[in-house]
Amino acid sequence: HYRCRSVYKLLEVDDKYHILCPGLRVIDCGTAPGAWAQVAVQRVNATGSDPDAPIGFVLGVDLLHVFPLEGAVLLPRADITDPMTQKKIQEVLPKGMVDVILSDMAPNATGIRQLDHHKLIHLCLSLLDLAQHILEPGGTMLCKYWDGGESHLLQKRLMQDFQEVKTLKLQASRKESAERYYLAKSYKRAARRASE
Ligand code: SAM
Repeated sequence: HYRCRSVYKLLEVDDKYHILCPGLRVIDCGTAPGAWAQVAVQRVNATGSDPDAPIGFVLGVDLLHVFPLEGAVLLPRADITDPMTQKKIQEVLPKGMVDVILSDMAPNATGIRQLDHHKLIHLCLSLLDLAQHILEPGGTMLCKYWDGGESHLLQKRLMQDFQEVKTLKLQASRKESAERYYLAKSYKRAARRASE
């Protein structure tokens, strides 16, 4: 009943590190087709299906169309790096803020490994700029990257902005794949207000 096999990656991370809890606000970057968002909706209790637990919030953003998902607010056909998208995100989020940033984003692969790696690293770096505006201090970020020569740039930025950064190679990823995830915890920066 999940929309995509990539769901096993998020389940693997969350079963081990418990980054999604009832009541948390989550942005899922690169949502389509929506399997990660399905997990996020369940685990933060976004539909209120557990009446005894706090109710969370899930926002999904993707370049592509995403079929409606109960419990999630969706921003389809939106580029996360576009300042207009960032503005919309802030408008839609409760109090403009999230506790968790998830990113399973991937640019269209050219097949040229170096180039694909470079593009994805820079996509992740742009998320850190977004984080300055929307991520609560203490918050968490999980992001996919393809390992290569520029990974250290992203890792360095993450280590500046978060107290703890782990590199994850998941069982659920294909063995020969360069796919990795950074799990960054305890965001250190105070949110920058729009007026600054
Ligand atoms: N986690 C998803 C799931 O479980 O259904 C699968 C995500 S898929 C591997 C990667 C997605 O990232 C694609 O749908 C792609 O359109 C999206 N994407 C890539 N670049 C993006 C960008 N700049 N802004 C928003 N979404 C982007």
